[in-house]
Amino acid sequence: MSAATDDLDTLKKRLAEQQRALKLQEQRAESEVQLYQRLLGRLTLACRGQNLELDNKLAQLRAQLAENSDLSKSGKLLDTVEQLLVNQAQQSDKQLLSTREAIAKAGKRLQQVKGLAPQLRRDLRDLLTLAESAPQSVLHYLPYLEQLSGLYQQALSEARNGEENSNNGTRIATLQREMADIILALLSEIEFDRDTATELSSLRRDVALAGCAEQLVNHCTRLIQVMISGIKRERSMSAQFLASLNDTLQQVYGAVNRSLEQSRYLSDESRQINQTLKERISELSLNVNNTPDLNTLRDSIRDQLVLILEAIQRREQLSVQEDAVNALLEQLRGRVVSLEEETENYRSQLAEQRQQLMIDPLTQLPNRSAFEERAEFEAERFSRYGNPLAIAVLDVDHFKRINDNYGHAAGDKTLQVLGQVLSKSFRRSDFVSRFGGEEFVILLPEQDRDGLLAPLEKLRQTVARLPFDFKGQRVTITISIGATLFAEGDSVASAFERADAELYRAKAQGRNQVCII
Ligand code: GH3
Ligand code: MG
Ligand code: MG
Repeated sequence: MSAATDDLDTLKKRLAEQQRALKLQEQRAESEVQLYQRLLGRLTLACRGQNLELDNKLAQLRAQLAENSDLSKSGKLLDTVEQLLVNQAQQSDKQLLSTREAIAKAGKRLQQVKGLAPQLRRDLRDLLTLAESAPQSVLHYLPYLEQLSGLYQQALSEARNGEENSNNGTRIATLQREMADIILALLSEIEFDRDTATELSSLRRDVALAGCAEQLVNHCTRLIQVMISGIKRERSMSAQFLASLNDTLQQVYGAVNRSLEQSRYLSDESRQINQTLKERISELSLNVNNTPDLNTLRDSIRDQLVLILEAIQRREQLSVQEDAVNALLEQLRGRVVSLEEETENYRSQLAEQRQQLMIDPLTQLPNRSAFEERAEFEAERFSRYGNPLAIAVLDVDHFKRINDNYGHAAGDKTLQVLGQVLSKSFRRSDFVSRFGGEEFVILLPEQDRDGLLAPLEKLRQTVARLPFDFKGQRVTITISIGATLFAEGDSVASAFERADAELYRAKAQGRNQVCII
């Protein structure tokens, strides 16, 4: 009998040991999973700020990881994230390639300048070779851009010295004009937020008024700085917002999890206490009925009362904990509200930014991006419902002469006045945009072939009669227009090309006229 009891005890002990070992192993496995989860969470944080969609998916992934440790449930999300990462890498490669090409193009242009000092030529060759090797990101190219701008400055001062010696000013004047054109073309291609736009238009004025090559080079350097700081500002704004959104999301998810766990635990616990109380009380009444002797009954009641008191005290503690959970939930609610406000704020900032990106700062007309978006929309409507849609391309005649004879400021003023005339000349449903340089494009929905000539011809005549006055001289400015109607099977590009070909027919036939096909 006693041997059997000993055996049983030993078995029980072994079982208990096994259970402890198993529990320890489980704990270890769990802490390892947690470690990997944390690591994955940190890795996703490190990728932030490159792409809005990627950031949002990564935030979702972190939230899922915080919610459950079972990675197989996040399979679909992991696939999306992987695809987005691949796309992001391809996008960066493309950017890298176009920056490298831009540097190579600018450098080769400089190499073609005759009479550069041998040392300058060597420096330029070295720089181009260096820029050819592949850095990991576009930002790495910035120093090359700066060096290139320095080499331009040297080339210009050499050319100027050459001019002083040989007294031949034509080459330097041509070089200077070419540079002004390159800078202006660049300026009209850059689209940034409102602050940058103000800076760019002041830069545009300075370039137009630049008296000598050195000033031009300084403006060129300023342009590069404006571009870089614009890019940085835009990146940091979205990156900052995303970082704070992700942090808040993480806090919210963490708090939700904690409060859920706690309330689950609390409700289990209070159920158990209620049960204990019920059992104690029924035991008590059983004892009262069944115990014959008063003393035993008194002892038993005292024991039961002690247990009941303990249960009541535990309940009291529990209700304090419940208050804490409620306070936590309240805090959580506050955080969600502020998160919503923050998101709303960002959304309206984005809308404003988008609005700014669609407007040409010089004429205040919709720009090329806005045209492309609207044209796709109208073309889609045309192909679906077949209502007539016309497109007209307009170009100022001999615009270069205005710049050359009266300066870039006069050219700019001309474009502004034309912008005003254009926006007043068409119907509310028509869409007028500055396509680039001195070219404008107009979309005319619901305009059939018979009615198309009249508004375009009227505009041509109005412009030719505008009283421009530069340097005290009366100047006549004329425009040429090419137009066409969308036909079945047309894309925006094919209709645009047809209108553009008509524009060149108008130019070839002597300018200041409208050609429609
Ligand atoms: P054509 O009649 O054949 O159109 O001759 P054009 O001189 O108008 O044509 P071209 O395309 O050779 O010249 C356009 C000029 O417009 C070149 C560039 O200096 C100037 N330009 C482009 N954008 C701007 C700008 O924003 N402001 C000023 N002032 N000039 C600009
Ligand atoms: Mg042109
Ligand atoms: Mg022109």
